[in-house]
Formats: sequence, C-alpha cells, structure tokens
Amino acid sequence: MAAAMDMQQYRKYGKELIDYICNYYETIEKRRVTSPVEPGYLKPLLPKEAPKQGEDWPAILNDVETKIMPGITHWMHPGFHAYFPSGNSYASMLGDMLSDAIGCIGFSWASSPACTELETIVLDWMAKALSLPSHFVFSNPGSKGGGVIQGSSSESILVVMMAARAQAIAYLKDQAQDYDTHDSNYLPKLVAYTSCEAHSCVEKAAKMALVKLRILDVDENCSMRGPTLAEAIKEDQESGLHPCFVVATLGSTSSCAFDNLKEVGPIVKKLPACWLHCDGAYAGGGFICPELRYLKEGLEFADSFQTNANKWMNVCFDCTCLWVKERYKLTSSLIVEPLYLRHDRQAVTVDYRHWMIPLSRRFRALKLWFTIRNYGIEGLQAYIRNHVKLAKEFEKLVLKDNRFELCNEVRLGLVCFRLKASDFDNQALLANINKEGKIHMIPSKVHNKYIIRFCVIHPQSNQAVVEKAWEVIQQHGAAILSGKEKEKALETEDKRRASFVENVPHDLFQRFARRSTLKDGATPILVDKTDMEDEEA
Ligand code: PLP
Repeated sequence: MAAAMDMQQYRKYGKELIDYICNYYETIEKRRVTSPVEPGYLKPLLPKEAPKQGEDWPAILNDVETKIMPGITHWMHPGFHAYFPSGNSYASMLGDMLSDAIGCIGFSWASSPACTELETIVLDWMAKALSLPSHFVFSNPGSKGGGVIQGSSSESILVVMMAARAQAIAYLKDQAQDYDTHDSNYLPKLVAYTSCEAHSCVEKAAKMALVKLRILDVDENCSMRGPTLAEAIKEDQESGLHPCFVVATLGSTSSCAFDNLKEVGPIVKKLPACWLHCDGAYAGGGFICPELRYLKEGLEFADSFQTNANKWMNVCFDCTCLWVKERYKLTSSLIVEPLYLRHDRQAVTVDYRHWMIPLSRRFRALKLWFTIRNYGIEGLQAYIRNHVKLAKEFEKLVLKDNRFELCNEVRLGLVCFRLKASDFDNQALLANINKEGKIHMIPSKVHNKYIIRFCVIHPQSNQAVVEKAWEVIQQHGAAILSGKEKEKALETEDKRRASFVENVPHDLFQRFARRSTLKDGATPILVDKTDMEDEEA
C-alpha cells in the first residue's frame, strides 16, 4: 500500500510533472487536435469504485497518458482555432501552482491581507493598462469604483444584473414611498436589454434574476444601435415597465462585432436607475494596444465592464476582471454579515466576498500579477498585435480565393468565412475538417447564414500555422465543391448533424438549438435540413 505523497516525493514528482508538461507541449503537434473517442469511452478504462488503498504516483501519471489524454481536445495545439483563446503562459501556470500551495481563502481582507491587496492593486494596473475610464480605478482620487477577479464573465454579468435590479427596485420603492412591500413585488416591472448577438450568459443571468430580457435586433454590422434601443425603451415605458439594465457587447462571440456604445451610452444615462454593462470578454484584452482603443469608444458611459484575462491576456482560466463605477452599488446588493466573518479592519479595507456569489475565493491575483510582470505591457501588446496581424493574413487568404467569402469585419483575432455554397455544404465542410483532426474550428450564424469561425488562438501562433490551416480548409472545400466529400458527409449525415464534435445526442442538441434565442457561437448550431432546403430554394 502506498502512503499519500510526502514532501520529498512531491519535490521529485512535481519536477517530473513539469517535465511531462513540457514534453506534452513539445510534442503536441503529433496529436490530433480533437479527440476521436465516443461517449462513455472512459468508463470501461477505470475501476467502478475509488481505490481503497493509496496508489503510487507513477501509476497515476501513467493513467493520464493512456486513459485521459486520448479524450482530451488539445486547446494548446497550434491547430486549435475554435471558440476564443484559453489564456496560457508559464508565468500564469506558476501563479496557480503557488496559489494552490499557499491555499488561502481570501474572502475578507483579514482572511489573508495580501490576497485582497494584490488583487486591488493589479486590477488598478490592468484598468490603467487597458485605458479604462478613471472611475473604475480604486486609487484615483475620489473614486467610488474598483475591480475584482471573478470566476467567469457569466458570473460577472449575473452579479452586476443583481446590482442593477436592486438599484431599480430601491428607486421604484422610493418613488412609490413604499417601504413595506417585499422587493419581489417590483420584479414584474423590470426590463433589461441586450442584442441578439450577445452571449447566452446574458439570457441565463436574466433567467436567474427573474428579469424580463428584450433581445434587440442588430444592424448590418451585427451592432446594437441607439435608435433600436431607444424605441424598445419607449415602448416599454409606455406599458409601465422600468428599464433597469442594458448589456452592450464589445467583441461578440459569433463574429467579434461591437455594439455602438457612443449611441447606446447617452440613452441609458438619461434613464433613472438604469445600469449599463459592457461585455468585453475576449476583445477587452485588445485595449492594451492604443491603436485598438477606438473599439471601446463610449465606454465612459458604462457602470461596469468585464474582460476575461483568461482569454486574451495569457492568464490561465479562471480570471475574469470586472470593474464597477460605484462599488457600493454592487456590494449592497450582495452583502450579508454573519458575525464569524467580521473583522476589526472592515471599515477601511475591501472584503471581496461582498463582490461576488461565493464566499471562498482563490488567490487568483498571483497569476495575473506574474503574467503582467513577466510579459510587461509591451510583451502583452506584442502578443495581441501578432494575433491581429495573423487574422489579417488569414483574411487575405480568404479574399484571394473566390470559392470562399468573408463574413465579418476583421478587427481582432477572429475571421468568419464560408464557402460560397449552401449552409449544408458549409456544415459538411466543417464536419469533415473537424473529423480529420488536423485543425479545429466551430460554426456560428451571421445574418442567418451558417459561417465558420477561425480564431487565432495559440500564444506563439505564426504565419506557417495560418497557412497550414488554410491549406486544410482549401483541400476540404475543393472536395465539398466537387461533390465527393459532400456524399461522404451525407452518408453519415445523422451523426454529423448531431454536433460538430459529435458528442451530443441529436434530439438533445436539437432541443437546445431551438431554445436559445442568442447566436453566441459557443452553442452548437444545428442547420435543420428543411430550413436549409427552404433557404436554398
Ligand atoms: N461574453 C462573451 C462575449 C463571450 O465570448 C463569452 C465566452 O466566450 C462569455 C461572455 C462567457 O464567458 P465565461 O465563460 O467566462 O462565462
């Protein structure tokens, strides 16, 4: 029987694990990007019960290579071009390692002062590096705002929606001089707005917060415009509703489109007790480059803004940076004060448990701090610029080949394109590419057309990676157009239509595809054969 690892073994095996990780990175290109396994592959490979007695580390690590790795989609593979980048850097990985070792739970300043103070300082660094409005910076004189690290953009949007909801209900109660009725009586009066290009987490937040959500149409650039918002607000006010929350997207998941904040901002600002949030989950990291800051014009109107440093800032998941203009508005909607969490410095310190849903929180600021210090602002700018340059190169390749068309304005690292053919052909193209396993992309819909998203992902991506991906796409595109691969796709149509990664049962997939009103690119898109036939007719 092996005893649990002791410190000496940890020292030895820890070093060996770093070697394993480095070997994994060095040889990753020899692996398929996507995993070919079928659902349930792991069950027969593992025992039915947890081991009664401890096992030796080498046996455990051996199972990683033989049993786990075959079921991994390799997000760090240079051929991975799906979704948005999953941040990754050695400095950041070391940050998480140290955070795990320190093991503090930083719910209050007193529970581990450095955990809170480093987060406050680094969020200020980030706000300044991204040139965010000064009211988001803690240390600016007279500032009522500040930043916090959340687990995800979804949680960030939920907590600011809670704050907006609380602010609106307090306003309505004040107006009615009603201090006795329960807050929930005012819920039916509230309405929030976002565009059909917003991420599905906005819809999810509204569902959880029980706030009606109006999903607005966008213009030809997939951008939410002021007049559309103003008209919806007017209509709702005339029916006695109170607009309480607007989410504008800076860099949509589908096509990296930007809502028109210069138009939307002033409209929201004129409303009493209405909160404007800007979702820059991916694109926010780009604001570190002065030449990309035109994309955030109008952000000064926002009450809050969030970006995932774990997407486009080389920080490993999870690290979403959320800033608010008035921190007390956020905390007052979430505050609870049991005696066992109070401390004698709380009047002069930040207690981050009031800024989020969980009580417990990891020392995530370490990995952000390590990454910013290790790259420097200039290093991060160079990383972003390389991605933008490579996306432009890929755009050129698409434009040069008249069998394909470009489907978005390429401003950051995302290029949307399709074969000049039916949605079904494009779906077959993507299915064949993903099945081959050399590169991986996901689809979305732009202006109701099935498109393929090519995102520059790898931290050290280069021209050769982009050219290789384009070669793969061209080969499969030619085969689809010649009818050869289309037939192949049709033969396995049911399986293919189930999902682009073939791991969602068809009926489940169909139900989800129909239920979501948002086109966020992260949700698999089902092209219904009958819809396609209508479209093609
Ligand atoms: N908002 C946008 C624009 C996104 O692209 C994403 C994810 O890609 C999200 C929100 C959700 O992010 P998270 O997974 O951190 O909740």
